[in-house]
Amino acid sequence: MAENMSVPLNDGRDMPRIGFGVWRIEDHDAERLVGAALDSGYRSIDTATVYGNEAGVGAGIRSWGGSREDVFVTTKVWSSDHGADSATRACEQSLERLGLDYVDLYLIHWPVARQQAFVETWRALISLREKGLVRSIGVSNFQPDHLQSVISATGVVPAVNQIELHPWLQQAPLRSFHRDLGVVTESWSPLGQGGDLLADPVVVMIAHEIERSPAQVVLRWHLQNNCVVIPKSATPSRIQENIDLWSFSLSERHMHLIAQLEQGMRLGPDPDIF
Ligand code: NAD
Repeated sequence: MAENMSVPLNDGRDMPRIGFGVWRIEDHDAERLVGAALDSGYRSIDTATVYGNEAGVGAGIRSWGGSREDVFVTTKVWSSDHGADSATRACEQSLERLGLDYVDLYLIHWPVARQQAFVETWRALISLREKGLVRSIGVSNFQPDHLQSVISATGVVPAVNQIELHPWLQQAPLRSFHRDLGVVTESWSPLGQGGDLLADPVVVMIAHEIERSPAQVVLRWHLQNNCVVIPKSATPSRIQENIDLWSFSLSERHMHLIAQLEQGMRLGPDPDIF
């Protein structure tokens, strides 16, 4: 049976299981690289206000030959814009920079619990969805207590939690918490930011066995764990390679071998203190 390339969200919408991440892509390169990703078959783009490239991303989507409705666009409200009015304004400004009428998914980028404003920010996202400026709403870098706070205050369960996740930080407890709540897990830095993870002997051995690249092995591992992936690359051949994930699969033994690579190793900040 053909695999589903989208995952259902808890609000009735769908989201592509593979997206193109654009962190550390300069605004002036974003139009070209987003165009390359769309030409390669990506239908989901993950940006954020703080990446400083929403204008280039929007230009890439608008200048692409296809229809806006066919692209799933995610952006995120930055930590300095928490609070009802600020978050609402931040979203409107993102839409202006993107040159779009709506985004498909709007996320709270970090909980920043010490500001004590993420619940109010979540309420703002609920209103933005009601107004139609955003289609789905979710969070990023939320721990279980942060998720519980927004759910108990509003009754609205985030559609997605985008978290750091790769074979060195597999997040099994948080994934199972998401499963119980009906929250989709989206993996950021799915390739462990390239480099050492892709040279790991286990990953390289599996890649040889199945005649795929180490990056494809790691991305396929995410998909088989029901995670959405958003790999980033600025190299057209790798952009292409990173979406070519539907014509092969990892065996149970491969999945088990990669499970052994867990090290509890964060590449980014700890959400409990950031
Ligand atoms: P990633 O894990 O996607 O790794 C990207 C790097 O891996 C590239 O720069 C390149 O060096 C290498 N690479 C990519 N494809 C390769 C291939 N086929 N072969 C060999 N090397 C390859 O890292 P990322 O950019 O940190 O994460 C992906 C996306 O996640 C970001 O672009 C961003 O959209 C999102 N993100 C979100 C947060 C958050 O707080 N929500 C934080 C970080 C990243």
